[in-house]
Amino acid sequence: MAWLESITQIEEFEDAEFDAALVAEMEQASSASVSRMVRFSTPTFKEYETSELQSCGKNSFPAFSITAGGCALMCDHCEAKILEPMLPAIRPQMLDQKVRQLIETEGLQGFLLSGGSDKRNEIRYSRYYPVVEKLKRDFPHLRIAIHTALTDQAGAREMASAGVDVAMLDIIGAEQTIREVYHLNRPVDDFEATLEALCSTSMQISPHIVIGLHYGRILGEANALDILTRHFTHALVLVVIMPFYAKPGTFVTPGTRDVGRIFLEARHRLPDRQVLLGCARPPGMHKRVTDAYAVMAGLDGIAFPADGAVAVADTIGRPFHQAHACCSIKLGDSIASLARSSCAA
Ligand code: SF4
Repeated sequence: MAWLESITQIEEFEDAEFDAALVAEMEQASSASVSRMVRFSTPTFKEYETSELQSCGKNSFPAFSITAGGCALMCDHCEAKILEPMLPAIRPQMLDQKVRQLIETEGLQGFLLSGGSDKRNEIRYSRYYPVVEKLKRDFPHLRIAIHTALTDQAGAREMASAGVDVAMLDIIGAEQTIREVYHLNRPVDDFEATLEALCSTSMQISPHIVIGLHYGRILGEANALDILTRHFTHALVLVVIMPFYAKPGTFVTPGTRDVGRIFLEARHRLPDRQVLLGCARPPGMHKRVTDAYAVMAGLDGIAFPADGAVAVADTIGRPFHQAHACCSIKLGDSIASLARSSCAA
């Protein structure tokens, strides 16, 4: 039975609309990807349960914001809302205390360090590094991820020598998007230069592409993929813009077909890399269809998968497992995924 016919028989897709040509293309291209393991990740930032999977219920991989809810950039797609659910750590000691407490009470295994950025899309983490270094010394098992924002060679080296394991940043492929959505006057080259600086360290680099970042339209995604092909990174995390968090009335929701097409393109262009679908994407049926496309396109991991994703993997014969972590972080032997959405920072 062809994939389209099989997946539309799954109960969760009763009212779903799939693009027949795209599904056929995914099926045709599947010989290289159908045997790849897909990880359904349930990071512990939020409560999660579907009829197919459950979260571990522990705060084992929280996100901290060093600016609490503050951000000087106030990008149109976020307006600092991504920071709201993060644990505030506006002083290094706050991070130190909270991490030690969570190790005792919740079996914390790692954390994501994030924050709002300044007007140049940079984040001043330096005063936190002594704490990060000490935490790593006292608890070598901790896996630490960071939203780097834009940085240079010296900044990248500082992160790595503090003991950060995974560095994440959004790669933006269109200057117009940087200018209009981010209110930032810096070229695409600065994003590539940051990526290059990060790649010269020992950290795992986990760049993100936000699909639909240009007010819900597809604009710089192909160029962002081009940039990624020029630098070796451990993983690529794809997320989809969520108009719900954006400046009201400015964003549309990108169509699932456009999103699925970028999944396929990313898989094709980065065959040797982990290509993952991160937490952020529009909810409801949009998410179900998006996640089904992610499984069919051969992505390696999906965070908070929608109902039906496991059934699609089963139907097309992809092996899968569940992991409780974030950000392409290795926990024990398993590489878990995925990132906390689309912070530019
Ligand atoms: S994406 Fe990052 S830099 Fe932009 S508003 Fe949100 S927190 Fe600030």
